[in-house]
Amino acid sequence: FDMFVLAFVERIFRPSYKKDDIVLGKKLGGGSFGVVYRASLAKKPSSKDGEIVLKKATEYGAVEIWMNERVRRACANSCADFLYGFLESSPKKGAEYWLIWKFEGESTLADLIQSKEFPYNVETLILEKVQDLPKGIERENRIIQTILRQLLFALDSLHSTGIVHRDIKPQNIIFSEDSRTFKIIDLGAAADLRVGINYIPKEFLLDPRYAAPEQYIMSTQTPSAPSAPVATALSPVLWQLNLPDRFDIYSAGLIFLQMAFPGLRNDSSLIQFNRQLKRCDYDLTAWRNTVEARAGPELRRGFELLDLDGGQGWELLTSMVRYKARQRISAKTALAHPYFDKEGLLALSFMQ
Ligand code: ADP
Ligand code: MG
Repeated sequence: FDMFVLAFVERIFRPSYKKDDIVLGKKLGGGSFGVVYRASLAKKPSSKDGEIVLKKATEYGAVEIWMNERVRRACANSCADFLYGFLESSPKKGAEYWLIWKFEGESTLADLIQSKEFPYNVETLILEKVQDLPKGIERENRIIQTILRQLLFALDSLHSTGIVHRDIKPQNIIFSEDSRTFKIIDLGAAADLRVGINYIPKEFLLDPRYAAPEQYIMSTQTPSAPSAPVATALSPVLWQLNLPDRFDIYSAGLIFLQMAFPGLRNDSSLIQFNRQLKRCDYDLTAWRNTVEARAGPELRRGFELLDLDGGQGWELLTSMVRYKARQRISAKTALAHPYFDKEGLLALSFMQ
């Protein structure tokens, strides 16, 4: 049946909102492309409590609405629950795009990671029960595993839909209090390569702290792309050739690294790490060799955590953070990695 008809019908019967339905709350964030507020709906819908997040965006809001609509239909559980998007024109501010999502929860992964308690502060939130283990790197590793698995799961569904996020970072991963899982937010820099939406990479949007070394998502061999959101059926073959999804994998790898090493969780140390890695030609093993000999106890503890169970964590990390996109593991393959294999771990512990 026609996807367009389905999408159209869904769009008509879904509740729509307008400016007067929204009661503004405190500001949650804001950059040069928009401002984000916590808000609530004046007439509370019966099913939900009406707590929402509102983004007032500039011209890029159009693409962000498009991406959210697509995600809503194709892979709803991987991203924050999008409710509605519309164009709001005022004489003072001109045209603004207003986007609203369900308020998923108080904390992003960035908030959680910055706490001294991490990862134990996440243990109390997730459904996975790891309290049977004594406090220590094994238990911490299990919590980190769960977070990384949920992130890769969300990335796999986005990538299978044909969407590359391009701004994966702890600030754009929200803990959903209802589903008790991590979800992705902020599709403002995303690209849908199968239909060519936002196909020209806006490099200035990319966060240099988490961006993979390749400057362009698609190689220069790809045919020139439209500058506005226009449909240009891009074949899955091109996707296979260029592997644009591996850009997100690199960013996810850096998040994995930050979870394992407390010393790399703040901005300046991450920037310094990026410089060191570049000097090692993006070879993580070479980086390890340069830092491990003179490493303090904290850094050593991070390596110890990644070396558990025969070094599966370290193996996975090094297959995510690689210079060449085509040498990086895909989200789907990463999910099948022995790092996540509990039975494998059990077998290993029997052998020891
Ligand atoms: P920006 O373009 O400013 O980065 P984001 O979409 O990342 O916009 O939102 C900014 C912040 O607002 C996020 O880092 C997060 O703290 C909060 N936020 C965004 N969406 C939600 C949501 N659905 N539920 C709860 N908080 C959210
Ligand atoms: Mg953001």
